[in-house]
Amino acid sequence: MEPYRFGITDELLTILERLRSQNDIGSDDPDFWIALSLEEDAAFLTRDGRIIIYDGMSEEGREVYEEQDACRWLHYAVDEQNIPDLLCLLPPRPRFAQDCDFCRGVGREQEIDTICYHCGGLGWIRANEEGRR
Ligand SMILES: [Zn+2]
Repeated sequence: MEPYRFGITDELLTILERLRSQNDIGSDDPDFWIALSLEEDAAFLTRDGRIIIYDGMSEEGREVYEEQDACRWLHYAVDEQNIPDLLCLLPPRPRFAQDCDFCRGVGREQEIDTICYHCGGLGWIRANEEGRR
């Protein structure tokens, strides 16, 4: 199974390069490119669209494989680092997707006001017959 990979367009690359140069949201390592969250875990969006997480317990980063996980980290970045340009990376809702039962399609868990863990903030879940990545 391949790590999940967002499709970063040249246009977005230009926007992100500018953001990176203006703000302290990058890393010196050319691979670990934009910091998505630096709270409990450090997550980085790589230039080629993967997300790598450092949980603080190990030296090795781990790649994100599940679409919902990747989208959750992206939503954290939009919220906490205020990078709304990243929203264009989110996958479009498939025709047969179902509203997420946990957040009722909103993408946020209302009681604790955080990004829905189940759908990653998308508000929908892929239907089974479409298959998983
Ligand atoms: Zn949800």
